[in-house]
Amino acid sequence: MTTAETAAEVYLDYQSSKPVDPRVVEAMHPYFFERFGNPSSLHQVGDRATKVLDECREKIADFVGANPKEILFTSGATESNNLALIGYAMRNKRKGNHIIISEVEHISIHNIAKYLEKNGFEISKVPVDQYARVDPRKLESRITDKTILASIGYGSNEVGTIQPMEEICQLLKNKGIAIHTDAVAAEGLVPIDVNKVPVDLMSLSSNDIYGPKGLGVLYLRKGAGIMPIIMGGGQERGLRSGTENMPAIVGMAEAARIASDEMSEEIKRLGSYRDRLIEGVLKKIPKAYLNGHPTERLPNNAHFRFEAVEGESLMLSLKDKGISASTGSACTSKTLEPSHTLIACGLLHEEAHGSLEFTFGRFNTEEDVERVLQVLPGVLERLRTLSPLYERN
Ligand code: PMP
Repeated sequence: MTTAETAAEVYLDYQSSKPVDPRVVEAMHPYFFERFGNPSSLHQVGDRATKVLDECREKIADFVGANPKEILFTSGATESNNLALIGYAMRNKRKGNHIIISEVEHISIHNIAKYLEKNGFEISKVPVDQYARVDPRKLESRITDKTILASIGYGSNEVGTIQPMEEICQLLKNKGIAIHTDAVAAEGLVPIDVNKVPVDLMSLSSNDIYGPKGLGVLYLRKGAGIMPIIMGGGQERGLRSGTENMPAIVGMAEAARIASDEMSEEIKRLGSYRDRLIEGVLKKIPKAYLNGHPTERLPNNAHFRFEAVEGESLMLSLKDKGISASTGSACTSKTLEPSHTLIACGLLHEEAHGSLEFTFGRFNTEEDVERVLQVLPGVLERLRTLSPLYERN
């Protein structure tokens, strides 16, 4: 891969961070210099910035089949999730105070749910099956006459499982309940169309489609009301104040254009790497198991559990060999707690701790997969030889 710091490095942690596509950087460049205008200014420079802002909103709307008026720019997916859940809950609290999330949501959704709970809302968590999938019937059983919103992530940023979003939306629409999805892990890897999967609110992030960090989007369906959570100059129709980050917005729009143009090829290419890695690992390594759904999974995700090995030791041993993989979500990697997603799938604490995630991306090559398949069996064998647990087996 070309973007790692040395040629020998193999980066397989695209879920935690992606390089910005050079074409995106090129598109952004003038917006740091000669095209520095603020869209709120009423002079010519401001007018030109407004025109570009409108064009970018259109490109990002096209990426998900939305109307440009339904696109709000934020500082990232964390903010989009906050604006979606808190903004919707506050605006609609007269209709009810009950919100449903799934057990396998991103940590930001769990923490927003805790905040809402402290502020008078009731939260239910719908469990998932062993593959991290939400069963729409279980979701239905959590609905009460106070339910106003459900938040179900499109695809898992950890185990890569894709949720049955069409069915979930249908169920909630029939009951008049709004649906939010955090689509960050799925965007660019699954064609998302808000006409086919009629969510009311959807969080997107720029970096997850190879745009710059520090920019996100909240898709807000016409008619879905939210209250702003950031007050200020009234930008973004008064729903998200703050001067627009024009270089990043231009970058995300270009990233969305590239993602749309290249998605079908990318899905095939990354899917073949994923399948080769899964097949190779399960064949070459004894007592290795796949976490997440065998078929309904993101094309870039391979997540394994290895018996009698600590995921962290494995990750560090691979690090020594120049391979970057991950023990779970980067957003929770500094806690000692096992992954809440793996625990929700029914794994024991030690099983969750024995797991490792590989996520592919735009700059990986077939050789990267082969390198992992060359190195991983030996590394595992060595760690297992040192493990008293493995001897007992
Ligand atoms: N949702 C998901 C699924 C994520 O993986 C992340 C982290 N990339 C976020 C939300 C938060 O994104 P950010 O840190 O860019 O705000």
